Amino acid sequence: MLIIMDNAATDEQIEIVEDKIRSMGWTPHEIPGALRIAIGITGNKGAVDAGLFSNLAGVVECIPVSKPYKLVSRDVKPEDTVIKLPNVTIGGKELVVMAGPCSVESRSQIMEVAEFVKSQGAQVLRGGAYKPRTSPYSFQGLKEEGLKYLREAGEKFGLSVVTEVKDTETVPLVSEYCDMLQIGARNMHNFSLLEAIGRTRKPVLLKRGLAATVEEWLMAAEYIASQGNYEIALCERGIRTFETYTRNTLDLNSVPLVKHLSHLPILVDPSHGTGSWELVAPMAMASVAAGADGLLVEVHPHPEKALSDGKQSLRPEKFAELIEKLRKIAASCDKSFGAL
Ligand code: PEP
Ligand code: MN
Repeated sequence: MLIIMDNAATDEQIEIVEDKIRSMGWTPHEIPGALRIAIGITGNKGAVDAGLFSNLAGVVECIPVSKPYKLVSRDVKPEDTVIKLPNVTIGGKELVVMAGPCSVESRSQIMEVAEFVKSQGAQVLRGGAYKPRTSPYSFQGLKEEGLKYLREAGEKFGLSVVTEVKDTETVPLVSEYCDMLQIGARNMHNFSLLEAIGRTRKPVLLKRGLAATVEEWLMAAEYIASQGNYEIALCERGIRTFETYTRNTLDLNSVPLVKHLSHLPILVDPSHGTGSWELVAPMAMASVAAGADGLLVEVHPHPEKALSDGKQSLRPEKFAELIEKLRKIAASCDKSFGAL
């Protein structure tokens, strides 16, 4: 149920509605919007009786929300959500490029990549310090040391930083070092992690699970929002299908679909979506043409020596070529990209 308040509703009238919601054992969520004040209700088991609220002062309308996800649904908030990072906004007019290595491998590696991607107009530096690897014997990341290098590189070159948080225990530590927390595909169904992230007020990059439907993905976002953190950007990174020539099948349907169903920004990761560097640029361009708010791209100075995901990492010169092409596509899709 979504309660629409009169634009002129007083704080006191809003408080009365919220107290009424709490008295039923439910949770009120004020949904920020440019055109209206709305209060969403979660925690109810069955349908909410509109009669409980429709006669309260300041209430204009009570709208039942039939979708299983509520707070992240477009029905509840028609305006796009725009997330503010220190140097860029996600979900507005700007095309956001998050770029960097799969893993932070050393101080010099992340410094080199940061300087380069910044020179090309990227606004956010990515790099994993806690890596969810298929094999326990593969490189697991530099952990806190990696977080320090990432932060230092971000600060030195004026880039916001995003990095994966792998478990609930490290949420406070990782939050200290980054501007945006990434939830990896393997953790999209980790509900305690989603709730823990929901209790922080850090922007979140929520990857789509390897075998998650769009509805399950939006429900994962709802877990985060249900705890009061609405700063969520979704990231399509491909799903498992019967195709084996590519690492994953990049489901670009999800871009316009998510835009229709939800107010959250959506980015695309063509690196994990394809698994091969040759396919990254065409799929990055297709993502922007499909309406993505941004991209997450793996870039490595020496992909052949990378400790993870070298095959899908762009060399600096290939990244520069991609950026040139993206500028044109962004302009024709009404997105701005960099003043460089
Ligand atoms: C990553 O971004 O390096 C990563 C591990 O991604 P995903 O969770 O999408 O596999
Ligand atoms: Mn990777």
